[in-house]
Amino acid sequence: MVYQLNNVSVNYSNRMALRNVSCTIEKDKWISVIGQTGAGKSTFVQVLKGLIPHINGDYLIDHQPAKRDAKGQLKVISEIGFVFQYPEHQLFETTVFKELAFALKQQGWSNEQIKKSISEVLPQLGLSEDILPLAPFQLSGGLKRRVAIASVIMMNPKLLIVDEPTAGLDPVSKVALLRLLKNWQQQDNRTIIFVSHQMEDVAEYSDEVIVFHEGCLMGQLDTCTLFLEQSHLLEKIGMSLPESVQLLKLVEELSGEKIKISCCREQEIFEKILPIWKAGRILHV
Ligand code: ADP
Repeated sequence: MVYQLNNVSVNYSNRMALRNVSCTIEKDKWISVIGQTGAGKSTFVQVLKGLIPHINGDYLIDHQPAKRDAKGQLKVISEIGFVFQYPEHQLFETTVFKELAFALKQQGWSNEQIKKSISEVLPQLGLSEDILPLAPFQLSGGLKRRVAIASVIMMNPKLLIVDEPTAGLDPVSKVALLRLLKNWQQQDNRTIIFVSHQMEDVAEYSDEVIVFHEGCLMGQLDTCTLFLEQSHLLEKIGMSLPESVQLLKLVEELSGEKIKISCCREQEIFEKILPIWKAGRILHV
């Protein structure tokens, strides 16, 4: 599926939350959405999910207008998975099994189908069958979050929107969750839209980045292009470069060498910097 917004604007009473936003969301990508608080990120992802019934402009899905009701209001797009911030706050069933089965039961799936689907989804989020009889509130914060995300992934979306999915998690749970999400995204032409303030995570996992500022989409760029060639955009929106890219630029400056990298992942940057460091080609200031 390809999702396309053409000149979309959203007004909340007298406030313009999105201004003439145009973009295309293609399959098989991790796309991060960045910007300061109030820049329009949440409004943008809610538009994609069809949660804002009245928008100005066009929303096309696979080149066809998104479905609207008789009043012309956009309908919620059930094929898109949406994980809100702190999704574990919405866990309400008495066991993990019931939580994961809930939406499928509503759709009339048989118990056998539900069990099969649960056993396929659990490993994708690094979860074991042992937790199925437990009450969600018995689990650690990181596990609760994974269960909440698993309940969305149960619907097998091709596009998954995750709004600050690591907020409040400890560093180990955070990395584990992001790696699991990356693995999930890389199968079956899936796409993730990842709203984040953490530039290190954006650099590590994204193929593309969408930059918002005061309701405007300032750019939709390849991750390396943003961090290496268009970093003025980050300055404009008051965000800093990922630490690994800052280090790369410092080593380039001190060595006088241009370092070629193919992605902005930390490991790739360190692997390129290390030989320069070891060979003593960095001038001391
Ligand atoms: P972000 O997710 O980047 O923080 P939002 O999309 O939440 O930005 O908000 C964009 C603008 O719209 C902000 O000025 C915010 O105050 C305003 N806004 C967001 N939601 C509402 C709402 N339900 N009613 C009125 N104004 C809103």
